Amino acid sequence: MAETQQAIENLLSETRVFPPSEEFVAGANATASIYEEAEADWLGFWRDQALERITWFEEPTEILDDSNAPFYKWFSDGRLNLAYNCLDRHLDTDGDKVAYHWVGEPGDTRTITYRELHAEVGRFANALKSLGVARGDRVAIYLGMIPELPVAMLACARIGAVHSVVFGGFSSDSLADRIQDADARLLITSDGAWRRGSVVSLKANADSAVARCPSIEHVVVVRRTENEVAMEEGRDLWYQDVVAGRPEDCPAESMNAEDLLYILYTSGTTGTPKGIVHTQGGYLTGAMTTHHYVFDIKPDDVYWCAADIGWVTGHTYIVYGPLANGTTGVMYEGAPNFPDNDRLWQIIEDYGVTVFYTAPTAIRAFMKWGDRYPDAHDLSSIRLLGTVGEPINPEAWIWYHEHIGGGAAPIVDTWWQTETGSIMITPLPGAVVTKPGSATRPFPGITADVVDEDGNSVPLGGGGFLTIDRPWPSMLRTIYGDDARYVETYWSRFEGRYFPGDGCKRDEDGYYWLLGRVDDIMLVAGHNISTTEVESALVSHPGVAEAAVVGRTDAVTGQAVAAFVTLRQGVEGDAALLEDLRDTVADKIGPIAKPKSIVFTDDLPKTRSGKIMRRLLRDISEQRRLGDVTTLANADIVEEIAAKASTSTED
Ligand code: ATP
Ligand code: MG
Repeated sequence: MAETQQAIENLLSETRVFPPSEEFVAGANATASIYEEAEADWLGFWRDQALERITWFEEPTEILDDSNAPFYKWFSDGRLNLAYNCLDRHLDTDGDKVAYHWVGEPGDTRTITYRELHAEVGRFANALKSLGVARGDRVAIYLGMIPELPVAMLACARIGAVHSVVFGGFSSDSLADRIQDADARLLITSDGAWRRGSVVSLKANADSAVARCPSIEHVVVVRRTENEVAMEEGRDLWYQDVVAGRPEDCPAESMNAEDLLYILYTSGTTGTPKGIVHTQGGYLTGAMTTHHYVFDIKPDDVYWCAADIGWVTGHTYIVYGPLANGTTGVMYEGAPNFPDNDRLWQIIEDYGVTVFYTAPTAIRAFMKWGDRYPDAHDLSSIRLLGTVGEPINPEAWIWYHEHIGGGAAPIVDTWWQTETGSIMITPLPGAVVTKPGSATRPFPGITADVVDEDGNSVPLGGGGFLTIDRPWPSMLRTIYGDDARYVETYWSRFEGRYFPGDGCKRDEDGYYWLLGRVDDIMLVAGHNISTTEVESALVSHPGVAEAAVVGRTDAVTGQAVAAFVTLRQGVEGDAALLEDLRDTVADKIGPIAKPKSIVFTDDLPKTRSGKIMRRLLRDISEQRRLGDVTTLANADIVEEIAAKASTSTED
């Protein structure tokens, strides 16, 4: 970052507002008073949530232990078990309630009740024990989106083992790195996973990873795709064999609130992934409380978080939060465009989904494919929508609102991170008027600030660095095996505050607008310009589906704006459009942010979680040697863009 770094400019203004309907407000789980109540006694607020929502084996008397900050502890004399909270305690009243409606990519389906899930988790937990897995041992899980994935996580939680889920789209190298970092004892995988009609050979990837991971004693293999796989005698075991004949009953270990629950590596947008550590009691408090209030969950909701469980969104909002809250969820195995671009809308229609949560990258893909796919389906069951993962461009928000939400469903734009464990900045749908592109305000009990480089609060109307003022229950406890990196990464930049690495501005109403990572901020002629604002201006053009901008060295202005633009289906990228896009940016934001170069491309380099990877575009723009692309989903596109960028027009 440049030394002259100042608070980030506030350039784009968005004036549309969307209050929730009276009907929504009348039935909402949270009303506006929750903010003042939480603020009046924030520790009491979290204690109440923890005691009311969780079934403790021993109730905590401690709330927050800050004696060794930033190594905070929450509810540290409490004892509980997360699988017990997600399953056992629902059996008497809700045993026959559906936990998951699961949809396989080829079209097969499974309906799993809480009772069935409990039984399967018990059998697999007993199997894990028989394989020597004990409390505190690390278990790596490398699976697609099949029911055995939450079963495996909950079986670990039940016996006190620590799971480390590795997204099924990762390569064997990424898997090996993560197994080694966590020193995992057992790996759970499957023969293959369905993706867009073909089989991804998870077992083959697992084999080449495990060849480099001497800590792995056994590999448990779920049969899913029926492809041929090599099984190593003594080491590899079929899941179906290890659970066969096992009893359903398996005691739920009594865990301390601060025992490790899981390790999860961040998605790697900025570089080396970090093994984020989450513990039990505080994590579950955050997951349940936010799931209840942000998604306004009611007993009869059919709730669908369309993320992958390999990311934190899936951990917190497909597995732990919704199951502990006794919610019925939908889980889909495959690609959103298989067999056609309307697969998700078909599933919403089939199951009567009421709450739907996805990422801006998915929404921009839906926009690119065209309105006719959602418009051909009855989506009237939807009453609430959510987004997470990146800043959402206001035009994408409006599209989501109109085409998926029927112009009525509130949208919760939820800002949070792997590190935060649960949602931090978000509207509460019945209590907050939303503005497209704004995550609105901190969740009750959370306080944030936007500060300049010296840590001084930036007045409303200005931009700067987002900081979180005080600890919260579901916060990460450390980076696995690297306490120093934990302190250095998150707690060193601003004294006593958590620094997530994101830029943010606040408008005159105090609404928070996330501006992307501070590493992506451009410095153009002395102005700090966020990539998000320029991208949103480009996406506001009706021909544009998606845009990424980066700063590149410029002799006159220090940095110049370089844009990469994906057009909506059927739109021609010609010289006239190029001029039009420049004018749009000048018009929406000001001439200072006009892109100096624009490259039209069919796709943008993304991480495996679908986020735009700007550092690669920066490398292309600077014609540098390309950085690390191992966590990149579509590596070919980088070469393609690089070739085009070298021939693109400039002013
Ligand atoms: P890495 O930390 O390894 O670079 P990552 O930050 O992409 O990867 P995640 O923890 O999955 O890994 O993502 C959290 C980040 O995603 C946030 O810090 C923020 O930059 C972005 N983000 C998530 N939700 C939102 C949102 N609603 N609005 C804006 N940005 C968001
Ligand atoms: Mg991050």
